[in-house]
Amino acid sequence: MLTNAKLVFNKNINQKHTEAAIKHAEYLCLQKQQKFTSLRRTVFEILWEDYQPLGAYEIKQRLSMRLGKKIDPPTVYRAIEFFVDLGLANKIESLNAYIGCPFPSSQRSYIFLICENCKNVAEVSTGSVDNSLALIMEKLKFKLRKQHIEVKGICSKCSP
Ligand SMILES: [Zn+2]
Repeated sequence: MLTNAKLVFNKNINQKHTEAAIKHAEYLCLQKQQKFTSLRRTVFEILWEDYQPLGAYEIKQRLSMRLGKKIDPPTVYRAIEFFVDLGLANKIESLNAYIGCPFPSSQRSYIFLICENCKNVAEVSTGSVDNSLALIMEKLKFKLRKQHIEVKGICSKCSP
């Protein structure tokens, strides 16, 4: 099982993790022959800076602040979608927000643990859930397109 739950809920994600994520993003872009432009890089840094899910509007605001100019929404959406498509960022559907993906090369399912108190979101990737889902899909003859499970609750740091 892969997870960043301890790091996320204890607020231990730091510059080192962000730098590693940027390096990995650079590598993936190179591999897929995509440009890691300075605008994309800045959006990616914003996705990682607090490691909290951010709405597109919040990302747009931060981007405008950093670049010292107004950025139109389609530019922001294109940059975010670029990272979501490459698996470098995830959309948290129930929050309508985005967060950097800690395991961009994992082919497994994504399970998001959303703390309703501190609003942090950790990710879990586990083969056992994939196997259970595969069995269900087979039984029901349902073709799986995307696995995305969001779980809401209270993290260990916030629970009394
Ligand atoms: Zn919490």
